[in-house]
Amino acid sequence: MEEITRMIKPIWTIEHHEAFLRKACLPIADICFEKAAQVLEDLADTFATLPAGSAVGLAAPQIGYPFRIFILFYQGLEVRAVNPELVTCKGSHLVKEGCLSIPDKTFTLKRPDVVKVRYVDLGQNVRSIRGHGVTAQALLHEMEHLDGILVDTKGRS
Ligand SMILES: [Zn+2]
Repeated sequence: MEEITRMIKPIWTIEHHEAFLRKACLPIADICFEKAAQVLEDLADTFATLPAGSAVGLAAPQIGYPFRIFILFYQGLEVRAVNPELVTCKGSHLVKEGCLSIPDKTFTLKRPDVVKVRYVDLGQNVRSIRGHGVTAQALLHEMEHLDGILVDTKGRS
């Protein structure tokens, strides 16, 4: 077996990649699922390098891929989402929230109590995930990344 050395992709921040991070991402076409597999693997590799507890999820644009893909790893939950869509967004509470792409800052914003997201997995099966509390907050945070919305975005509700 040939050993392949994988490069860990660094997290892109607004300092160097602001325009890219504030742009909406593209859906993955059915014929491009090999690309989705690579993006998901790279996201997991980068996530694994983060200090424990410092992040709940990571979106593709944060490592330089302009695609609608994110991962969410939290308390045993492992979501690898391709082409996710927001199905439900209910309730509202204030939270303090940060983002790896805006280092060392936190923002106070409204987040829903319950979020449901429908997505496609790597086997191209349609799945959904419904989260409360931190999971709901993280799901929406990652969804917003795919629309180029960051926690500091002005005029957010
Ligand atoms: Zn973020």
